[in-house]
Amino acid sequence: MQTPLAIGSVHIDIFADTFSEFSLPCVNDLPGSFVISVGGTAFNVASTLKHLGMNPFILTSTKRNSLFTYIIKYKLKELDLNHYFISDNTLNESAFLALRQNGDLFAAITASAWDNLPQPLLEKSLKLLLSENKFDFFIIDCNLSSNHIETVLKLLRNCRLPIYVCATSSYKIKRLSSINLRLLTKITAIFLNTFEFESLEKNIVEGLIKNGTLFFITEGEKGVRVLTERKTVKFPTISFASSKSFSGAGDAFAAGVIYSLQKKSSLEKAIIFGLNCVSAKIHSRTANILDLKIENIHEAFGIDRLTLCYTRNLFEEEKESLLKEYSHILLADIDHFKKINDTYGHDYGDYVLKEVAKIIKKCIRSTDKVYRFGGEEFLILLSNTTNEQARMIAERIREEISTNTPVTITIGISECGNNIDLAVKKADILLYQGKTSGRNKVVSSAPGSK
Ligand code: GH3
Ligand code: MG
Ligand code: MG
Repeated sequence: MQTPLAIGSVHIDIFADTFSEFSLPCVNDLPGSFVISVGGTAFNVASTLKHLGMNPFILTSTKRNSLFTYIIKYKLKELDLNHYFISDNTLNESAFLALRQNGDLFAAITASAWDNLPQPLLEKSLKLLLSENKFDFFIIDCNLSSNHIETVLKLLRNCRLPIYVCATSSYKIKRLSSINLRLLTKITAIFLNTFEFESLEKNIVEGLIKNGTLFFITEGEKGVRVLTERKTVKFPTISFASSKSFSGAGDAFAAGVIYSLQKKSSLEKAIIFGLNCVSAKIHSRTANILDLKIENIHEAFGIDRLTLCYTRNLFEEEKESLLKEYSHILLADIDHFKKINDTYGHDYGDYVLKEVAKIIKKCIRSTDKVYRFGGEEFLILLSNTTNEQARMIAERIREEISTNTPVTITIGISECGNNIDLAVKKADILLYQGKTSGRNKVVSSAPGSK
């Protein structure tokens, strides 16, 4: 099974589904149907390749802890699509860019956070991926800036594997113009539409064709044109016309052609296969997020449904990146909670758990974070705190719980240091000390602590 790496954008699209056979026209204030789905060229190409039986990997850039990132992650997991997110709190994410057609709003897209991604972060992530995985070929999406495309091409040039480039708009394809031609000649094929093709400078096109790069130019209802060194192959409509234009049609075509070329099909067969992928609209069928079930929504956001604290799974996923932001860990476990369940029943136990979570949240600051770490155990991360302050916050939590609920809680405190697993272990040992020495107490190893 081949493993491609698709580098580029993954975002959320909302479309007035004017092209669907089921939709009402979105005009004159009549309600129309709409779809909300995951999109972006890297996603579109990778999800189609996955559907066709390959094992793609997506490298994308996202704003950390953003609502869209959670939803996208959830969807990628559901589709079993391998992915590596370069996440950072400093990245921007423009929430819904609106697109109009003839005055009507027809689409809104969240932009991915590529533009201000620091170059070293991209370099580091790509190097790591290349060292840990064996890829068969690469897909670069022109949503990346010129600098980013250049960085990627530089890192990939020694791999000597096929590199496919997918354009996303006429102004983005221009990003290739400022890149050294020698680097560009590493590209196996470029997929773009007529408008994008015309935006590309002639000398680049000529230089690339001379070096063997293929140009696949989609021409809407007219079909497809392929430029190679030796010939121009024209394919009349089979077609983009029959399925009408839809978002990601170009990406679906590219995915089909890439798939076939990788399987050593002829150019003609590859194009027919690409056009079939367009008619099948594979990625747009699988990427819909309206089918995200309500009970899965909390999970998608990494939130525990009962207590509305973050989940342990989320902690495990993001723990490496937490060290930068947080200074202390409080590990808190409710005392003799089993007795509450045994005496008053499980539902009452649930109610107590919710109350305890509420109190913890009330006692911490907005910059702190609380996870439900086990059944009746909570892990609290405190940011920018001294040992004394951490102890005061823990004491406040302990006291509020003992005053306002039928249970008490024991808390172990540790400093995050530079190893989060070790910090959790330390807090757990201290918590255990608190349990064996009478419960309803805060235990810390910090100097001056009792
Ligand atoms: P200790 O003071 O040593 O921590 O005693 P404990 O009884 O709190 O600890 P133990 O680990 O023996 O029991 C934990 C109990 O928490 C048992 C389990 O049924 C209960 N529990 C875990 N998750 C939930 C939940 O979601 N709802 C309810 N109602 N109970 C839960
Ligand atoms: Mg307990
Ligand atoms: Mg416990």
